[in-house]
Amino acid sequence: MINLELPPKLEAARQGSRGLAEQLFRPISRKYDKQEHDYPEELRVLGGPRKAKTAEQIKEEQALRELAKAQEAKDEGKVKNGNNVQGIVSVTEMCRGDVGLMLSVPGVGLGNAAISAVATPEQKARFGHCYASMAITEPSTGSDSANISTTAVLDGDEWVINGEKIFITAGERCDHVVVWATLDKSMGKAAIKSFVVPRDAPGCELVGLEDKLGLRASDTATIRFDNCRVPKDNILGSPEVDAKKGFGGVMQTFDNTRPTVAAMALGVARASLDLTTEILKKEGVKADYAKDMWHSSAIEAELYRMEAEWDAARLLTMKAAFMSDNKEPNSMEASMCKAKAGRMGNYVTLRCVELCQAMGYSETELLEKWARDSKILDIFEGTQQIQLLIVARRLLGLSSAQLK
Ligand SMILES: Cc1cc2nc3c(=O)[nH]c(=O)nc-3n(C[C@H](O)[C@H](O)[C@H](O)COP(=O)(O)OP(=O)(O)OC[C@H]3O[C@@H](n4cnc5c(N)ncnc54)[C@H](O)[C@@H]3O)c2cc1C
Repeated sequence: MINLELPPKLEAARQGSRGLAEQLFRPISRKYDKQEHDYPEELRVLGGPRKAKTAEQIKEEQALRELAKAQEAKDEGKVKNGNNVQGIVSVTEMCRGDVGLMLSVPGVGLGNAAISAVATPEQKARFGHCYASMAITEPSTGSDSANISTTAVLDGDEWVINGEKIFITAGERCDHVVVWATLDKSMGKAAIKSFVVPRDAPGCELVGLEDKLGLRASDTATIRFDNCRVPKDNILGSPEVDAKKGFGGVMQTFDNTRPTVAAMALGVARASLDLTTEILKKEGVKADYAKDMWHSSAIEAELYRMEAEWDAARLLTMKAAFMSDNKEPNSMEASMCKAKAGRMGNYVTLRCVELCQAMGYSETELLEKWARDSKILDIFEGTQQIQLLIVARRLLGLSSAQLK
């Protein structure tokens, strides 16, 4: 029989993140929904932006990595619940507290996932400590990321970056930005590479911040790169342009970040479902799974439906993360879980607003906020439509040129 219980190690991680969500995030959730652009000072207890590591720290970490590698070799062939599965469990719990605040915790940016997916061991040692945001979107390029116009040109020992990036989550608060740029636009997506750019590099300029529907505790920035120079070895992955490879290695980032965004949707939807169940219980609607369907009310049936949708999204998300931990290619599963969880999050949070009526729509509860927060989770890191397109391509064995 399949055992779907969390192993003890993950249960401990879940409890820790739940404590953080309930004690730190939830009490200040409404405050930073109202005070958009103010930094949530309360999060400073989690540690400010981290300082660059000393040579000694880098050496110590290298030794730890060697040990982990040796252990990994010993465990060869055994299944693992590693960083990705643990990340899903923690992110879900933290976002049950507040997704915007989770995205504002110093040190946990979407660019960090890119670094861990694409960087060499040496780069991981250099950039592992960073708080990195992720800059792909441009004023004229969103879903069609193969069309980006930001350029990177090698000049001696430095890359010179020029272009503008918009909608960068944590773009103001981070200390580094992972920037997608093309080495040669005429060579198409194979020439797109990612670069780690320090936020204080000359020529890296914050242009503005968005006012948003949801996720207001999290900053969303526009950054301009004007002859911005970074060292030659700040390119993530190989600088070679291999036309056969399609995207120049940057796409692996999404195999890790899409399940993470799916976990955010799981967290927000869980918050809505838990509160709605509690509110309805006070009104005499008790979800009782032992009751047969003939004696369930329409509202109870709706609660069961939402719980089933939530669990389906959770299992797909865990599967994608589990595959990543066990080094199995998971691009299709990453898109599947993002598509399912994104849509589920939108459906559940809005339905909870409807079911709780005035309490759902007014600001006395957080239900209306969660409905606003959940919308973006079906958009960023690839929209619903783009995820379905990717899944269709994989299932049908068609390339992006064959199925657009
Ligand atoms: C709050 C917020 C935070 C963000 N954070 C980041 C970030 O940290 N880093 C970053 O780089 N970007 C970020 N983004 C940008 C986000 O990833 C893009 O908005 C998203 O990729 C969609 O791009 P677009 O807005 O240009 O829409 P478009 O690509 O123009 O799409 C518009 C609509 O058309 C649909 N569509 C497009 N192409 C197809 C197709 N081939 N088939 C079917 N339908 C299609 C889309 O699904 C969508 O519904 C953020 C955006 C927001 C609002």
